[in-house]
Amino acid sequence: MNNTRIPQHLPLRNDLVGLQPYESFDTPVPVRLNTNENPYAVPKTVLRAVVDAVEHAVKSVNRYPNDGFYELRVRLADYVHKLEGLKFSVDQLIAANGSNEIMLEIFQAFGGPGRACISFSPAYSMYPRFCRDSFTELVEVPRVPDKFTIDVDKAAEKIVEVGPSIVVITSPNNPTGTHTSLDDLRKILEVAQNARVKSADANARAVVVVDEAYADFRDPTCGTGLELLEEFPNLLVVKTLSKAFSFAGVRLGFALASPGIISALRIVRLPYNLSTVTQAVVIAALERAPEMLEAVEEIKYERAQVLEQLKHLQYQGESFIVVPTQANFIQIGFSSNLPNFQQLPEKLHAYMLDNGVLIRKVGAPGYFRITIGTPEENQRFLNLLKSWVAQ
Ligand code: PMP
Repeated sequence: MNNTRIPQHLPLRNDLVGLQPYESFDTPVPVRLNTNENPYAVPKTVLRAVVDAVEHAVKSVNRYPNDGFYELRVRLADYVHKLEGLKFSVDQLIAANGSNEIMLEIFQAFGGPGRACISFSPAYSMYPRFCRDSFTELVEVPRVPDKFTIDVDKAAEKIVEVGPSIVVITSPNNPTGTHTSLDDLRKILEVAQNARVKSADANARAVVVVDEAYADFRDPTCGTGLELLEEFPNLLVVKTLSKAFSFAGVRLGFALASPGIISALRIVRLPYNLSTVTQAVVIAALERAPEMLEAVEEIKYERAQVLEQLKHLQYQGESFIVVPTQANFIQIGFSSNLPNFQQLPEKLHAYMLDNGVLIRKVGAPGYFRITIGTPEENQRFLNLLKSWVAQ
C-alpha cells in the first residue's frame, strides 16, 4: 500500500504524528520466510468442506452474524480439549479476528492512561502498538543477552516496582523462538498475584497474558500456560489459527481465561466482530483439525534439518548464533565480534530479496529471523546463505 504523507490540516492525534504503519510486505516474492505461517495450503480434503460451509453461510449474510458465536466457542473448547487434554467451558473462551484483535481487547479492557504493561524484549512488534493505542505505558524488561530467556528474578523485581496492570509473556517467543517454562510462568504469576497495580483498585492484580501463537510447534514436554488457568484467575492464554492451523488468511484468534476476564473483554469487543463466513469456515475446519495440523510434524522435522545445516556455517570465520527454538522459525545472529554485525542483517535481507527469498530483519541488533518453509524453500534459503557467506 502507498504511504501518502498525512497533511497538516488533519487533526491526527499528536502522539501519532510522524509514525509509520505496521510494516507488511505485500509485493509477491517467490519464497516468503518472513511471517511465520504454515507454508502448506489447507489440505484438499478440508477444502471441499470449507467451500461448502461458505456456500451455506452466504445465504444468510443479509443478517448480522451470531454475535455470541456460541457454536464456534463450543468447537474451539473441544479443539483445545483434544489437542491439550484440558477441559474448558464456553464462558472461559472468547474469539476475534486474529489474536491481534484479542490482544487489543486485552489492552483496551485492562490498560489505559496511568497504567503500565511489562513485556520481555525482544518481543512481538505489535505490543508497543497495543500500548500506544490504549494509552498504556510500556515497560520492556530485556531478556538475557544471546540466550533470550526471561530472568525471573528481574521480572519479579520489575513487577513489584512498576505495578503493571498487564504482563505479557510470549511463549514460544517471537522473534526469538525461546519458550518460558511452566515453573518460570508460575513464579511470575505468583509475584503478580501479590503486587499492587498502579492506577487501579487496591485489590486489583495484574492480568498475565501468555501469548501462545506458536505453541503448536513446541516440544510437548514444554507444557502450556493452559495448565495453570485453574490455579490463577488473572491468567489469560491467547491462541491463534494463523500459524500451525494454516488459517492466517481467515483471521481467527481466541483466548482462554476465567469467566470474569472474558466478561471484561466483552465490554470492549466490537459487536458482530466475527463474520458469518468466518464462523462457518472455522467450524468446518475445526471438524477436521487433525488434517489441518498434519504438516506440523514435518515442519518440526524440517526445523531440525535447517538448524543442523546452520551449525556448520560461518561468516568471516565466525559461526552464526542460532537461538534454540520451539517455534516454526529460527532467530539467527551475526557474531558481535564482526565489526559491522549490526548492519549485516540488512545486507543479507537485500541479497535474499534480490534472489527471491524474503526474510525478516527483526529483534536484537545483528539478528534476523526465518520461518521454516517447505523443504525446497528452506534449501533455497540455505543455498543463498552459503553463497553469500562465500562472497
Ligand atoms: N502473537 C504473536 C507472538 C505473533 O507472532 C502473531 C503474528 N505474527 C500474533 C500474535 C498475531 O497473530 P494473528 O493476529 O494472526 O492471530
